[in-house]
Amino acid sequence: MTHMITQRTPADQALAAELLHRVRTADAQIPAHRRAPRTLAEMRAREEDAARCAAPVRALHKCPDCGQLYHDGDNHTCGATRTPAELAAAAAH
Ligand SMILES: [Zn+2]
Repeated sequence: MTHMITQRTPADQALAAELLHRVRTADAQIPAHRRAPRTLAEMRAREEDAARCAAPVRALHKCPDCGQLYHDGDNHTCGATRTPAELAAAAAH
């Protein structure tokens, strides 16, 4: 049951102004980091954050021979003669 509003009465204008005031007042009370994005730029920034968070998490290992930290899948070249499997096994202990 929709119909076109062809004329705005003073009551319509007052209601519109009141609603806009209430929305803006409520919106201002929401902390910025909790507010839904309102502009295209804010939406894109949120999408980029989500894409960054979707990147796989890689485990961080500590080499049992030299003590250096390295990420899972990275080559660790400290001169240790252990194989990656041996390093992983040693790090698990
Ligand atoms: Zn090492």
